[in-house]
Amino acid sequence: MLLKYKYKLKPHKSQSVIISNWLEIARKQYNYRLAERLNWFEATRTPVNACPLNVSVVPVEGIYQNIPEFRIQTRDGRKKDSNGNPITRKGDKHPNIINGYVVWETVQLADLAQTKKLFPEYKSMHSQVLQDVIQRVQTTMDNFTLPDKKGKTSGRPKFKGKHYYNSFSYPQLSNTNIVKNANGRCCVNLPKIGLVPLVFNRPIPDRFKVKTGTVIREADGWYISFTIEDKSVPVEVAEIQPTEQNSKGIDLGLLHYAVTSDGEFVEVPKFFRLSEHRLSKLQVRLAKKSKHSKPWKILKGKIAKLHQLIARQRLDWQFKLAYHLFSDCQVIFLEDLLLANLLRRCKAKLGSNGQFLPNGQSAKSGLNKSLQDAAFGQFVQVLEYVAWKLGKRIIKVDPKGTSQHCWECLSKVPKSLSERWHSCSNCGQELHRDYNSALLIQKIGLLSTQEEDITSVKTAVRAFLPEESRALP
Ligand SMILES: [Zn+2]
Repeated sequence: MLLKYKYKLKPHKSQSVIISNWLEIARKQYNYRLAERLNWFEATRTPVNACPLNVSVVPVEGIYQNIPEFRIQTRDGRKKDSNGNPITRKGDKHPNIINGYVVWETVQLADLAQTKKLFPEYKSMHSQVLQDVIQRVQTTMDNFTLPDKKGKTSGRPKFKGKHYYNSFSYPQLSNTNIVKNANGRCCVNLPKIGLVPLVFNRPIPDRFKVKTGTVIREADGWYISFTIEDKSVPVEVAEIQPTEQNSKGIDLGLLHYAVTSDGEFVEVPKFFRLSEHRLSKLQVRLAKKSKHSKPWKILKGKIAKLHQLIARQRLDWQFKLAYHLFSDCQVIFLEDLLLANLLRRCKAKLGSNGQFLPNGQSAKSGLNKSLQDAAFGQFVQVLEYVAWKLGKRIIKVDPKGTSQHCWECLSKVPKSLSERWHSCSNCGQELHRDYNSALLIQKIGLLSTQEEDITSVKTAVRAFLPEESRALP
């Protein structure tokens, strides 16, 4: 089990100078290394139909004369074979360019020695932190060039401005790095920075080992996030057989945050709206100040802190809601939401002579505010975590058709987003539309765990509804 524990750092003045200095150096290094990668990427990229597949068309020697062809290993490798001999040895020769492709990560890692010679300020930085910067570049380039499981890649990596590079990582920390200083205060021993006091508000759980530490800049100061791991704790969630009594369906929505199949309507709390109001007022004031002036900077700081407050309030509320939802059930059925689907525009409604009729899009755009967007994905994660912690279970259900079908008789009752009421002409069900969805989600969820060939509303309709009643308008 891998967890993240975050603590507030309370560095001394001299330490915070070092930390912000390192962050700036790391940002410069990141941008420089990213530029190297992107230059090469642009120079060697050709149209697909003219691409020689595995060989760069531009002679690589011409583009990068300062990339040596071979790299000579300076010490024995850490990995060992079955006889205990290191797999790679000191003095081994490794090619830097294979089939015309530059092995960028190793080349850039090896080049750090040169960087330190040219720019002595890099010597002040811990070597592993600097190496981690290059690994970050590698990750962003991988995300950009290599498609994921769904065949998608992320966008072209961006150079990071001063306020967009906010953390650096120690890839190897351990529990012994958390110590008490001479005054008995809890500190983290960050190599090359020293003992930095921290607010140790919760202990690292027993048997969990600290793996890495990331120092993060936030609106109200510095934080450190440890990844901790205990391999003996299983990640799997409990296998509970859901029944009608021990489970509940939940429909997440924009008007009500969540509606459960017990008929509980969870509203978005008022304090979100209040903070939003305060935020918009501050933003109006900010717009009147001249940019980068002192009052502008002060206001900017206030806005950043308010954003932080809103995010924290939201997370806290979501945790409370998750515990509340699990308080009287074992299994929760949830729509397998894709954020993209939620944010999609409403379907256009056409009148009899081809004009556009109101389709509720303006109302939806208003609701698509950041508050709702970001929160659902996060809420699902919170629910999963809480389920794991309580030994309960989350089952995701295909969301297709859950708002358009009747939960009782499964016949189709089409409605636009603005229609909030579900009334079925087939079986006479009359109830709130989201409540209907929640009940339907539970029904489909239960069916999917009992019968193999039912996975969605569509398959359930096919299995239970006679042919003629499927075609209801
Ligand atoms: Zn019905």
